[in-house]
Amino acid sequence: MKKFLVTIDGPAGAGKTTVSRKVAELLDYAYVDTGALYRGVAYAAKQHGISPDDDKALERLCLELNLDILRTDQGSRLYADGMDITDDIRTPEMSMMASAVSARPVVRKALLSIQRRLGASKNAVFEGRDMGTVVFPDADIKFFLTADSAVRAMRRYQELREDSGQSLEAVAADMRKRDQNDTSREAAPLKPAVDALVIDSSHLCVEDVVNEMIKAVERRRQ
Ligand code: C5P
Repeated sequence: MKKFLVTIDGPAGAGKTTVSRKVAELLDYAYVDTGALYRGVAYAAKQHGISPDDDKALERLCLELNLDILRTDQGSRLYADGMDITDDIRTPEMSMMASAVSARPVVRKALLSIQRRLGASKNAVFEGRDMGTVVFPDADIKFFLTADSAVRAMRRYQELREDSGQSLEAVAADMRKRDQNDTSREAAPLKPAVDALVIDSSHLCVEDVVNEMIKAVERRRQ
């Protein structure tokens, strides 16, 4: 049977990760968090002392770095050169660094082939910023999940509160900076694909968004 690809793009804090995981689980599809790949490159760059604007060093790093997403009993885990770095990439510092390296075309080019390889063989939900526009322009169904910036900042603040100790203002400022980077960069800027179904989750709970997506997938599959 032909594989079915679902893409979910949108800005930080719109609820993409929670929703994408649930949609993948309900459909029994693979789930791929492509932001984790950019975070993996950011983490490796930091480990090697590479500046996010050093294209030559980033290109070499991406050529040599072996990134993989593996499904384990503890959910999907990110490995860099065989090391599980899933828990190291979720810091505010790595968010900002991922945003910086993701603007570099050398990094996007290197990750493009990894993402397409991951999407080649099975039904999957891909979450990111350019899934529907660049990586999988022929995806079977595309969603763009967004929400008011104040709502997104509050959600991210609540998510980070226990670990990072960042204030709501600091979280909101980081988010504005990332939004600005992600939407204004020349390489694959964040925007809805022309054929994406746009969902504003500002006043919706997770279940409502998930139900809307599952219904849309079921209609598309018929
Ligand atoms: O989704 P997440 O917040 O983990 O993504 C981290 C950063 O990686 C984003 O701010 C964005 O700059 C970048 N990214 C991207 N393209 C993707 C996924 C993430 O540019 N497909």
